[in-house]
Order: sequence, then C-alpha cells, then structure tokens
Amino acid sequence: MKKKYKAVFFDLDHTLWDFETNSAEALRELHHAYGLHHKGVGIDDFLQTFKRINSQLWHQYDTGQIPQETIRKQRFHRILLEHNIDEYELSLQFSQDYVSQSPKKQYLIPHAKTVLEYLHPQYPLHIITNGFSEIQAIKMTSSGILHFFTSIVTAEKAGHKKPAKEIFEYALTENGLRADEVIMIGDNLVTDIGGAKAAQLDTVYFNPTAAPHHEKVTHEITSLLNLKDLL
Ligand SMILES: [Mg+2]
Repeated sequence: MKKKYKAVFFDLDHTLWDFETNSAEALRELHHAYGLHHKGVGIDDFLQTFKRINSQLWHQYDTGQIPQETIRKQRFHRILLEHNIDEYELSLQFSQDYVSQSPKKQYLIPHAKTVLEYLHPQYPLHIITNGFSEIQAIKMTSSGILHFFTSIVTAEKAGHKKPAKEIFEYALTENGLRADEVIMIGDNLVTDIGGAKAAQLDTVYFNPTAAPHHEKVTHEITSLLNLKDLL
C-alpha cells in the first residue's frame, strides 16, 4: 500500500492543530482579563458553555444553515447570555480578542509534528479546511507546521466548503492531481470523510476516542502515529 498516493490532504482543526487545548487556554486568559468571575461566571462553566454553543454554531455553518459571520457576531453573545450577561458590545469585543488570541496558541494533536516530519519528504501535503484563511495561516505559523505544506485550501478560496466535493476537486485541479492519487485525513465524518468520499478520494478517519459509527472509511486510526504504517 505504501507509495500508492501522490499527495496527502489534511484537515487542520482537531486533526493537527489542537483546537480544544488552544481554545481553552485563550478562553481562560480572556475570562480573567474580562473579569468574568467577578460577574459570577466560573471558568469551568464558561468553558463548557463555549464548547456546546461553539459546536452547535460550527455544525450549523458546516451544514450551510448560517454564514461564517454569524459565528463571529453571535457566538459570545449567546455564551454570555447563558450566564445572564446581556452585553452585545462586550461580546463583540470578546469575540474579536478570542479570534485574534486563540490562533496564536501552539498546541498540536499528539504526534502531529513527528508524522508531518515523516510524511513531508515523501508526499506534497495540503490542508483542506473550512476555517478562515488568515486564521488558519496564523495557527500553522504559531504551531510551527506551515513549512510542511504545499498549499492551504480554504472554503473562502475554493468557493465551496466541506463536505461539498467541489472543495476537494478544487484542491485536485490546483495541484494537477487525480482523485485516486490522493488520500484525505480528518477527524470529522461528515465534512472530511463524507466530502472526500463524494470526490472519490480515499480516506483516513482520525477517531482518537474510538467513537462508534457506521460510515465506510478506507482506514481508521486512533493516533496520528498510525499514519506511519499506512503511508
Ligand atoms: Mg477537524
């Protein structure tokens, strides 16, 4: 199976860049800076609320129900509302600070760097992401992985977002690749795996919690280190 592929596509958030850890660190700092505990908001509750509202909004965005702008403009208003703070201007400022601080955090998913160092000399590597272009570039620079990648294909650039097959086809065309020459690695069964399958790509489902599912995937891994056996 080794050397079957000519290029490898990666998702970024939760697959390489440790969104949970980085986000929590930024939220802790901002929770402190904004004195939220003086307003009766405990940090653990705040992190929980963020996790719940944030994944709801991203799910709505991924399934085409809301534009990206809604995430930025409503996320923290909704989170603060749950803690009985109804201050829209404050929520916008908080949101701006979160969006600028969080991507500067550098935690990666375990073994990400080892695996990228292993794959980089063998395959051109590309990021396929629904995240904002400028934000994703900052994350990759902060965490020291930007140089491993030949291109970063964002939904903004491609004009389509995962799971649309067009974003994968855009990445193939841009790089002169055929679908059967590429494998897509990601943590999301709908956007990464479903989308890549629709574009006829082989897939690696990164499932660190070994969550049960019924999707057919080419390979499934619980650790990024397993990629060394596959590629
Ligand atoms: Mg992801």
